[in-house]
Amino acid sequence: MERTAPGPLAAAQAQVRKAVEALGAGEDLYELLRLPQRTVEVRIPVRMADGSVRVFTGYRAQHLSVLGPCKGGIRFHPGVSREEVQALSIWMTFKSALAGLPFGGGKGGVVVDPRPLREEELEQLSRGYIRALAPVLGPDRDIPAPDAGTGPRVMGWMLDEYERIAGGAAPGVITGKPLALGGSVGREAATGQGVAFAVREAARLLGMPLAGSRVAIQGFGNAGQFTARLLAREGARIVGISDSRGGIYHPGGLDVETAIRHKEETGSVVGLPGTEAIDQVELLQLECEVLVPAALEGAITAEVAQGVRAKVVAEAANGPTTPEGDQVLRDRGVFVIPDILCNAGGVTVSYFEWVQNRTGYPWSEAEVRARLEERMVRAFAQVAAAAQSRGTDTRTAAYVVALERIRAGLRARGLLGSPGAG
Ligand code: NAD
Repeated sequence: MERTAPGPLAAAQAQVRKAVEALGAGEDLYELLRLPQRTVEVRIPVRMADGSVRVFTGYRAQHLSVLGPCKGGIRFHPGVSREEVQALSIWMTFKSALAGLPFGGGKGGVVVDPRPLREEELEQLSRGYIRALAPVLGPDRDIPAPDAGTGPRVMGWMLDEYERIAGGAAPGVITGKPLALGGSVGREAATGQGVAFAVREAARLLGMPLAGSRVAIQGFGNAGQFTARLLAREGARIVGISDSRGGIYHPGGLDVETAIRHKEETGSVVGLPGTEAIDQVELLQLECEVLVPAALEGAITAEVAQGVRAKVVAEAANGPTTPEGDQVLRDRGVFVIPDILCNAGGVTVSYFEWVQNRTGYPWSEAEVRARLEERMVRAFAQVAAAAQSRGTDTRTAAYVVALERIRAGLRARGLLGSPGAG
């Protein structure tokens, strides 16, 4: 049995194992879930602007298609690896199951820093990724979406490439695409909107007023910016923000729109007038009520967790807390909204987009928001109830709720014995 895989895959597998044990299920369930059912690695040649050819490595992991087609984002980042996309695909299976969506987990990525690429190079890379993987993708097979380093523009190129290959319209093959190509209103804001709903529910549960509470946000891309914006709208004070270049701090609360503009103009939040410079670890350990890790995996290690002063950690990123960091947060009584619950707004509105594409009937922004709120509130309540009834932490509770649904699907397909039958 593989229990010593490095980094995020080891963390994902440890979480699955814990949930299997909490359910009192057998080893066969863990064995079915510990790795994706398929992991594809491809090489994508791109003719660069200077005439040279660079070959990029890409991956797509499809964890489980028992509850529906695989679903999950595509990441463009130099740190992408086979193990990372595998871990992320495992988390996607649990996230979709917890949100009650008819999907299994998928995830993809390309080992690349997209920032220095020219537009035409990025377009070739995006199209090349789809050409290489088209045989395993499809609206009923595996449906990509944006993740770190990608967004609607990349999804638009990818959809166009897929439709050229398919020879007809297939808008449901990709979500998070531009509105002009069948994207959903509210998809861009969805992850942050879901985080804001989850934080609001946590605040209610803990009897902590959200208005006036202090929030620190690590990572200021899609997830971080919309979370900041929406929590500020609820009256919270965003006291600190960081990105890959460093952090900023303002105890009275930052103006989020000004911070977004500053990042757009200069490439970073660092140097925003009227703020104090802090480093990335200081940001995670700021005195605040809510800490939102919204960057990448592994930010909150045991050492960092020792210094976390927030009451609530809302995991907008996937896998931001290492298993050791998680233990420290638990011991210190920090309330964690686990990633598979906290950032499920993205995949939930992706599901809405897929439904709209399949029916050819677009929804209004108010409808998207109301349905997202209903699902986030329900999932939060289910996790809180499971944590209470089972006497576990919120992360284990979230995994157990999801695992019960996954196990029911496996049993219904005859892939796992029924209760009493082993
Ligand atoms: P993004 O590329 O838009 O933004 C990532 C941000 O993190 C950038 O601001 C970058 O500068 C910052 N960052 C990188 N390293 C950092 C570090 N060491 N310290 C501080 N900041 C750092 O990505 P995104 O789409 O916002 O995704 C962020 C996280 O949210 C990922 O874990 C992703 O899987 C997760 N997520 C995203 C979505 C979505 O819809 N975009 C949905 C669910 C989960």
